Amino acid sequence: MNAVHVNPDACIACTTCTVYCPVAAQTEAFPGPRMIGPAYERFRLLGMVEDPSLSWCSNCKNCDIACPQGVSIASINMMARAREYEKAHPHFLRDWIVSHSETLAHLIGPLPAGLKNGVMKNGLVRGILDMIGIDRQAFMPSYAPKRFRTLLKGLKQPKTGRKAALFPGCYIDLYEPQAGLDLVWALNRAGYEVVCPDAFCCCGVPMVASGFMLDAGVNAKRNLIEVKKLKAQGVPVLTACPSCELMFREELPTFFPELVSSLNCDSALVDAQEFLLEAQSRGELKLELRPDAGRYLYHAPCHMRALGIGLPGFELLRRFGIDVRPASAGCCGISGSYGFKKEKHEVSMKVGAELFGVVRDSGCQAVATECGTCRLQIAGATGAECRHPVSLLRSLAER
Ligand code: SF4
Ligand code: SF4
Repeated sequence: MNAVHVNPDACIACTTCTVYCPVAAQTEAFPGPRMIGPAYERFRLLGMVEDPSLSWCSNCKNCDIACPQGVSIASINMMARAREYEKAHPHFLRDWIVSHSETLAHLIGPLPAGLKNGVMKNGLVRGILDMIGIDRQAFMPSYAPKRFRTLLKGLKQPKTGRKAALFPGCYIDLYEPQAGLDLVWALNRAGYEVVCPDAFCCCGVPMVASGFMLDAGVNAKRNLIEVKKLKAQGVPVLTACPSCELMFREELPTFFPELVSSLNCDSALVDAQEFLLEAQSRGELKLELRPDAGRYLYHAPCHMRALGIGLPGFELLRRFGIDVRPASAGCCGISGSYGFKKEKHEVSMKVGAELFGVVRDSGCQAVATECGTCRLQIAGATGAECRHPVSLLRSLAER
């Protein structure tokens, strides 16, 4: 991997980031972002320190959100981790499995989803996975019978002459294609025909979080070539996953600056919820909702907050008159695949405990949140129904 470094010297050691780090609050194994990020980075650049507690960072980005100096602490951690894992990668097999879900899906693709899910839920299989470091208590997603991109090809859409591309992200593509179809439904109503090119692949966030920076770079190149092509045709490229959005907008130029500049490409994607809000403002998205719609809770994913674009999914629900209130209870704890990892699972559940309590006590019909793994974690921990905001919107509009 080419050495790319974020300058740690903007840090003034105020420790605000450590106060806001949900992992440091739950385990003494992690000294917190100030220490592990900019402070140790100065020593790492001199080859003077390697600290195993670096692996505890979940890449949730709450430190970045809090830092008054704009230090990209989580990126410092991810790049340092990747450099350390090039020398020795503990839990290599486990980390590869949890960070390459798309490749894994290709390998076991011909098997029916029911069989794949049955095997994954089998006690003996969970025991074996537990032995390699995937916690047997972790909430695992179920494969959908068909991928989103396959279902989209068979969908009859209105020919409006206006196209939008949807970058679905692995969660919608492999595990929750209905959320993608709900987005297509909304975009069709706003006057857009939706495409999803076969070239789109995993954005690479799970790979970065598990130290596979080279693999993330390979995917970045493939995705950016396609994004550039679509943008040159005047087709907006949307995503409904905050982690994918953050990866394209901020992480790719940080981790792979040479790739982004050599392609001469603006890597940013458009937030799908923001896109729908704008369509509604122009009078292009009109929906009738049934008057007896219930009460709902909205969870703001950490990566959504890190984007700094507000909470367009929440705003979209309110714009259509839905009774929704923010949970305002911090991180759910899963941080992509972090909560799957055996040594991290307990901390992951402790991080999410406040949110789980708010969900249980809320009396709301369902929780809306844009992030697929947040939905997985909240539903697993509380039993609550969890939906993408646009899926919730559709369910209330169609009845
Ligand atoms: S990314 Fe999250 S877990 Fe990592 S240091 Fe920052 S706040 Fe803590
Ligand atoms: S919040 Fe920013 S400036 Fe303050 S200690 Fe953390 S990294 Fe340094």
